[in-house]
Amino acid sequence: MAKVRTRIAPSPTGDPHVGTAYIALFNRCFARQHEGEFILRIEDTDQTRSTARSEQDILKALRWLGLDWHEGPDVGGPHGPYRQSQRSDIYRAHIEVLLENGQAFCCFCTAERLDALRVSQTENRQTPGYDGHCLLLSEQEVQKKRAEKQPYVVRMKVPEEGDCVFTDRLRGEIRIAWEQIDMQVLMKSDHLPTYHFANVVDDHLMEITHVIRGEEWINSTPKHLLLYQHFGWQPPQFCHMPLLRNPDKSKLSKRKNPTSISYYKDMGYLPEALINYLGMMGWTMPDGREKFSIEEMQSAFDIDRVSLGGPVFDVEKLDWLNGKYIRENLDVEDFVAAFSQWAFDPVRISRIIPLLKDRVERLSDVIPLAGFFLSGLLPVSDADFKHKQLTSDDCKKILQLTVWQLEQLPEWSREGVEQLCQTLSQFLDIRIRETLFPLFIAITGKAVSTSVIDAMFILGLDVSRARLRHAIDILGGVSKKEAKDLERVLRELENYVRPVQA
Ligand code: GLU
Repeated sequence: MAKVRTRIAPSPTGDPHVGTAYIALFNRCFARQHEGEFILRIEDTDQTRSTARSEQDILKALRWLGLDWHEGPDVGGPHGPYRQSQRSDIYRAHIEVLLENGQAFCCFCTAERLDALRVSQTENRQTPGYDGHCLLLSEQEVQKKRAEKQPYVVRMKVPEEGDCVFTDRLRGEIRIAWEQIDMQVLMKSDHLPTYHFANVVDDHLMEITHVIRGEEWINSTPKHLLLYQHFGWQPPQFCHMPLLRNPDKSKLSKRKNPTSISYYKDMGYLPEALINYLGMMGWTMPDGREKFSIEEMQSAFDIDRVSLGGPVFDVEKLDWLNGKYIRENLDVEDFVAAFSQWAFDPVRISRIIPLLKDRVERLSDVIPLAGFFLSGLLPVSDADFKHKQLTSDDCKKILQLTVWQLEQLPEWSREGVEQLCQTLSQFLDIRIRETLFPLFIAITGKAVSTSVIDAMFILGLDVSRARLRHAIDILGGVSKKEAKDLERVLRELENYVRPVQA
């Protein structure tokens, strides 16, 4: 039997997500248990959303959790490059094969035509999808348009009737009617591949034997299988893992729960505890024990015992497990090492100290001023938000609008955070001092402190957001109706143009 090779294929378009680590963990366990190999591939085909920063953060976060890989963009390997943006020639050569064999076709439809098509399909309650318009073009017409350099995409042909039937390792037989499958764009007009195409070509060329990924990809699998068939390649085994859920069973989302691995690192969780907790998602050890190391999980692992009931990512349970690790696994010396590493991260400290240096007379003044940087959620109460000019609703409004606006910052920078606060103050017509008041309490725990803008910038989006949300909860939370009203205000704020200052 071929050597087992699995992979994690993150798209570097945001924070390192706990869901990525969860899928990576199961892939790595499965590969290692079979003495196989686990690969990391960066799927950055979406050039507008992918960033080098996100890629670095993902690699760093996975390594922090102890999830290393045999081959990848940073360690190399015999099947490289491992970043899809560097494999364009490979995809282009492969798309030509499909075009020559008539399994894919050039589509010259304009965005306007496709929009109109979508509108009419929606109006007629049809499943939106491409209608095959360009399939009717003759070979000569296609050649002529290509020679004239008319923009086009390449789409895959899809059977018109019948079902795609495949076996999922955990779910058994899955049947999806071909009529539900769109004539997927495989190559965009900029000649870069889409996820579906690059993913299949790479899984084949990288000799992936088992595709273990989230269940959100089940409906894409027919497209993938069709590509394997067109190329005459042996498809890998598919295994779709259950998605992580919030305690209310909805899909895990950062609106309800922190999802970034960096958040858990910044809050002082131990990587061993977090990875253990992720191992409990859909998996239980045969003897039922809840505390286990990644190696122990690997030796006992049996993918066929993964349970499909939506695993709940519950921060309270993680807290319990993390506490257990701290008590049982760390002696004083280990604790000192773990704590120092967490608290005195050189990058963080070198950002904090300039804020304090000119405000202290003794080194012992530092901690009372900067303690909030070295904390998780702060012990604030609703009385702390009492203010002469602001009601508790004003405070909630400022806090909620700030959370939403911070989430939308295209890049995390001090200037960005500052601009956002200034704009909010002008938009609400509340002086900046007052606007910043609830933020000071939520972020620093005090009405007077070092700059709250610097503080949010240094604490980062995840921790800032968690503290702002915690403050909103302390003020009684935002009801459904209040949220609706605030969303309206947010839309006005988004369209608000700050008057130019003289
Ligand atoms: N790039 C995809 C993602 O971000 C990979 C999906 C797959 O594993 O096929 O989830």
